[in-house]
Amino acid sequence: MFDLLIKNGKLITGKKVDIAIKDGAILNVDTVIESTAKEVIDLAGEHYVSAGWIDDHVHCYEKMTLYYDYPDKIGVTKGVTTVIDAGTTGAENIGDFYELTKKVKTNVYALVNISKWGIVEQDELADLTKVQAELVHDRLAELPQFIVGIKARMSKTVVGENGITPLELAKKIQHENDVPLMIHIGSAPPELQEVLTLLDAGDVLTHCFNGKPNGILDKDTDEIKDFARAAYDKGIVFDIGHGTDSFNFHVAEVALKEGMKATSISTDIYHRNRESGPVYDLATTMEKLRVVGYSWEEILDKVTAVPAQSFHLAKKGQLTAGFDADLTIFDLENGEKTLTDSNGFTRTAKELIKPVKTIIGGTVYDN
Ligand SMILES: [Zn+2]
Repeated sequence: MFDLLIKNGKLITGKKVDIAIKDGAILNVDTVIESTAKEVIDLAGEHYVSAGWIDDHVHCYEKMTLYYDYPDKIGVTKGVTTVIDAGTTGAENIGDFYELTKKVKTNVYALVNISKWGIVEQDELADLTKVQAELVHDRLAELPQFIVGIKARMSKTVVGENGITPLELAKKIQHENDVPLMIHIGSAPPELQEVLTLLDAGDVLTHCFNGKPNGILDKDTDEIKDFARAAYDKGIVFDIGHGTDSFNFHVAEVALKEGMKATSISTDIYHRNRESGPVYDLATTMEKLRVVGYSWEEILDKVTAVPAQSFHLAKKGQLTAGFDADLTIFDLENGEKTLTDSNGFTRTAKELIKPVKTIIGGTVYDN
């Protein structure tokens, strides 16, 4: 007997699906599964189901004063089964963060900031004595179940006078420990070209469609800069990381016109941009990419399989037997909603995505 049986769900392709769950894992996925279960949810062919949504750029260590939130406020209540905190904490405080996450419903992972106290102040990489490779190494060794990579924020306000040096240190730490790396970009210095030159295929570049002069769009020609195109073609992961300052509709639209789509979709959410916008939640960010012109099928892939792959979450991101029983049940509705990017520009969404149930490790939560 199964613990949970989901009947008559709809995949985004329109295909009907039943899903059997036992001991926190997906046991079977098929058109029809005839069996008994302790709990049955019949979606009556009306609701969609996908692998649980993963937001790979959030800030949810509640003890911070700058960027903080609570995992369940951006996770389970928003249809998101897994969040990856992107460098809020460093080697000195990530252990405490881990302890707090044990009590929440949402799956939480973290990237450790190469600066040892994380984002305690805006310029965490202005003082390079805070970058201690040994400490990062020790934490990665102690908490492999929690820390899934490293993070460095490479923009003017963060690095101060240090230019590209923090990225060189980050790459060194990455190579010594063989872990994924996420780089935040923003205003120069360092110049974007210099940052991209140091990145390798598989490295994650977050805030990819920001509207700043040091972004991927050449404002004079209104085309994607050649070196940005080359970095994308090389296999650098372009991650949305919407945030308060870092998503611009026009940049995303020009990129799409030139055949360049974000590799993964994430929010860079924390309490302020969740409560007052422009982020609100992952679903709203997904709606923005739908308006830009992505299909729902690819949007879902970019919040499930892709982030799982980027950060080596081996049992997540797929609706497949053997994977963790993390699922998002949602509706697609016609409507009209004004969406605002980080620069105050708006578009009107006609298709809205609404999570109705979030299933984490086989436990069902209503949205
Ligand atoms: Zn961030």
